[in-house]
Amino acid sequence: MFDLLVTGGTVVDGTGAPAYRADVAVNGDRIAAIGALAHASAARTVDATGKVVAPGFIDMHTHSDLTLRADARGWSKLRQGVTTDVVGNCGMTPYPVAADPERERVLKESLFAIADDMPWGWHGLRGYRETLQAQGIAINVAPLVGHSAIRGAAMGFGEGHATADDLAAMRRLLSEALDDGAFGLSTGLTLPPSSYGDTDEVVALCAALAARPGRLYCSHVRGDTVDGPTGMREALEIGRRAGVPVHLAHMAVNDPRRWGTASEVMDEMDGAARAGVDVTCDVYPYAASSSGFSQCLPGWAQSGGRLDTVARLRDPSTRARIRDDMEGDGLLAGWPWHWDRLMVCRVVNPEWRHAEGMTFADLAATRGVAPIDAALDLMAADEGRVQIIFFYRTEEDMRTFLRHPRSMVGSDGSALTAGGPTGGGRPHPRNYGAAARVLGRYVRETPVLGLEDAIHRMSGKVADRLGVRDRGRIRAGFAADLAVIDPHAVVDHATFEAPHQYATGVPWVVVNGAVAVADGEPTGVHRGRVLAA
Ligand SMILES: [Zn+2]
Repeated sequence: MFDLLVTGGTVVDGTGAPAYRADVAVNGDRIAAIGALAHASAARTVDATGKVVAPGFIDMHTHSDLTLRADARGWSKLRQGVTTDVVGNCGMTPYPVAADPERERVLKESLFAIADDMPWGWHGLRGYRETLQAQGIAINVAPLVGHSAIRGAAMGFGEGHATADDLAAMRRLLSEALDDGAFGLSTGLTLPPSSYGDTDEVVALCAALAARPGRLYCSHVRGDTVDGPTGMREALEIGRRAGVPVHLAHMAVNDPRRWGTASEVMDEMDGAARAGVDVTCDVYPYAASSSGFSQCLPGWAQSGGRLDTVARLRDPSTRARIRDDMEGDGLLAGWPWHWDRLMVCRVVNPEWRHAEGMTFADLAATRGVAPIDAALDLMAADEGRVQIIFFYRTEEDMRTFLRHPRSMVGSDGSALTAGGPTGGGRPHPRNYGAAARVLGRYVRETPVLGLEDAIHRMSGKVADRLGVRDRGRIRAGFAADLAVIDPHAVVDHATFEAPHQYATGVPWVVVNGAVAVADGEPTGVHRGRVLAA
């Protein structure tokens, strides 16, 4: 007698091995048996005839840290079959929280707060875990700890070089998070205050990782320059010098002058691997990225956090300096400004909501000003919270990254639920569609990957990289995180114009043995956990 029996399906087990016909039985929160079990009895039976039974997907790169706190349902991920989100990416985590109230305030401001008044009630990863588990969440999360949060707690959110004392304080906070189960350290080297740290600082922190084999250095790298993938080179150097495994987030070629060079980038990564660096990467299946517009301002103008930036924008002479530096320096690492490729996707100020969906070129035209002035006016009016989409990538480069043997899939998106507190703005469709898009567009419609390979890159391969030993595979004794997929129908529907649309073709999802999606509809059962390394 089993608790749950999934019969008649084709098992794609998450290892990359060929699919095979088998039934899958679950007892409690574990996979109990795999084989010809159609005549076994079970409390509940799911007919998966004609469907693929896969491990629940593990999304290697997400920002669901607070979205699941704000709305535990996480339907944008759950309905794609994602059962675990890796959180804490790009340097920013909601822990550690400094005892200093000013530093606590800036940390909260920086986390693009979904609901500014949402109570946190924790200081470290341990408290964050207890809070989320007490609340209940639809999917699991696997936490990293962020360099920006650590640096902010140890030395504030301003510019400045870390002293030996600062480094010691950061290492204490990092070690505490690692002791509490963080899977690694993330940096966001275009995002302050992580961006204020130099290579030596990150190497010094990664030395604390090296004492715990398998914990990852996950890097959102510094912007590549016209000279090549300089940000990746720095991350590889950090891995080599600190002796830690490196995982590169959201691979891309963003500078239009270097479009088409993805295979050269991956050749260089392979070369570093041959020279001894343990390196992997993730990518999401879109030719556009998204983040706050504030990182496009000069580094000095972002010092101290969002409200300090806004104060600078409201001072005419400081704003003029910001404008001059932006025009002179280019976008991020010096990329050419293409204002028609930068689209506003989230504005909090209701008087400026109409800008959502417009490029800065559009907004400038309606206001009769230069695009850079439209952008800075909007930033000031929205108190620095403007989120944008960058159409700065090519489909061809994305496919090159996606098919490379070192890559896995990471959406860079969050677990959102339409109509709820996380359902506002026009966020990047990756939040709702990345996994389903891989299976629908890049396995079935215009194949880049085979089905088993694609599922491997969204399950077993990710679990292996994280060191999660009991998830990511269909295997007896493993956690019962399952996705039943219709391989002929699975597809994403979210677009840049209308992103809050769920993927379809994933009729059943099981999280820790509990049915979380039944016949395509979420059940409201929240059995997710905060995993620990
Ligand atoms: Zn990032």
